[in-house]
Amino acid sequence: MYDSQVIIVGAGPTGLSLAIELARRSIAFRLIDVAEGPAPGSRGKGIQPRTLEVFEDLGVISSILEAGTPYPRVRVHLGPLSIRLGSLGGRKQATEGVPYPNLWLVPQYRTEEILRHRLTQLGGRVEFGAAFDRVSASERGVEVHLSTGEVVTAEYLVGCDGGHSSVRKVLGLALRGEALGTEAAFVADVKVEALDHTDWHVWPLAKGGAIGLCPLPEPSFFQMMSPREPAEGIELAVRRVSGCQVTQIGWSSMYRPAIRMVDHLRMGRIFLAGDAAHLHPPTGGQGLNTGVQDAYNLGWKLAHVLRGGPESLLDTYEAERLPVAAAVLGLSKQIYRTRSLKRGDATNQLRIHYRTSMLSLGKPLGRLHPGDRMPDVRCADGTRLFDAMRGTHATQLTTRDGTRILIRPDGYIASIGTQPVAAFAGEPTHRVNGSATNLRRS
Ligand SMILES: Cc1cc2nc3c(=O)[nH]c(=O)nc-3n(C[C@H](O)[C@H](O)[C@H](O)COP(=O)(O)OP(=O)(O)OC[C@H]3O[C@@H](n4cnc5c(N)ncnc54)[C@H](O)[C@@H]3O)c2cc1C
Repeated sequence: MYDSQVIIVGAGPTGLSLAIELARRSIAFRLIDVAEGPAPGSRGKGIQPRTLEVFEDLGVISSILEAGTPYPRVRVHLGPLSIRLGSLGGRKQATEGVPYPNLWLVPQYRTEEILRHRLTQLGGRVEFGAAFDRVSASERGVEVHLSTGEVVTAEYLVGCDGGHSSVRKVLGLALRGEALGTEAAFVADVKVEALDHTDWHVWPLAKGGAIGLCPLPEPSFFQMMSPREPAEGIELAVRRVSGCQVTQIGWSSMYRPAIRMVDHLRMGRIFLAGDAAHLHPPTGGQGLNTGVQDAYNLGWKLAHVLRGGPESLLDTYEAERLPVAAAVLGLSKQIYRTRSLKRGDATNQLRIHYRTSMLSLGKPLGRLHPGDRMPDVRCADGTRLFDAMRGTHATQLTTRDGTRILIRPDGYIASIGTQPVAAFAGEPTHRVNGSATNLRRS
């Protein structure tokens, strides 16, 4: 007998999302974190359109929208001149297929707070003050030693313990890649009185290194970013460029921008997800988003296998997510190097697909391929497909021309065809009717 079915190490956005996925499927898990309490800091503040769809499914979208703002426009200050550029986040109208088309700004501590609250609603919790120390694994389970002295047995372990991941180190997996630049960059949450709180202010030629101040949802608060820690101190550096007074420093940190990833996400009964497996520079806003989507890919598969589904389903986690991590890192590197403000559709993560996965079967329908993200569409009864998909089940959409589309619990198309499709054995499947014409347009 095991103490738990899954032990999750690390309660950042990745670990919390995974815990929610397991909690809503009634899988027994422990979620431990070395920190004594919630992490402060705005850090990963850009939530991409695909992650907003995931958050809709996880039941937190209204809280996330309430807690955030659209991305501000960038205002570049060059001596006495200031030039107002576009926004990194886009200003597109929602469409039937893409209900959340733009990047949404939420400080990471708020996103984590909202996810923790959802987890509590589902009966789960974070065990703070408990660090992963070491693990011994057998064919049938893992024995995890915690810093508290407790030894927990579980069927699976998932390391969501961030860039310095102890789980990754214990597995002997290296994060391969490169550091971007030689110095540690600086980030802080600062309250600046009397500075315009509409735009993202950038002083590229500031003495001692560029300074950026991005407005956060809290009045007068900004996320300050600079390629190095200001030698003269935060207050003086901000006053020198903006003429305004810093009245509070909420949190500050240094980080070394890098592009690195592991070459395996699974070793037997142990998995890696999020920053533990791939490290992104902040440019492009991909790190948190990729971690949440790792968790969203792995959660339903773990639950399915723990309920008796074939173990081989778990191999598809690495097969599907490793190429995504590599592609996203390539994109982040390009954005970092070019410093481009243009994002287009490349960064919104809506086009991520699993077309080459062994789970993707059948022929394309219009622009939709097996393995693609299923877009939202109107069903025959006028309701939204995303409403029918919300929850832990698979969904089968049958169109008037007899085409059947089977949608995985994580919203990707498993199969398209005219023959009845066997859903993932034992996975509950909701059935809805739609129009093939709408789908061909999407
Ligand atoms: C300045 C900045 C801006 C950024 N902007 C964006 C952005 O706009 N969009 C975006 O998507 N991403 C952004 N990121 C990246 C984002 O912050 C990370 O990708 C994200 O935090 C990764 O989440 P995670 O849950 O995988 O890991 P983490 O958030 O690092 O969480 C790991 C957790 O594991 C715990 N832990 C560590 N070791 C142990 C142990 N031994 N035992 C138990 N627990 C342990 C830690 O306490 C922590 O709570 C930004 C980052 C920075 C620094």
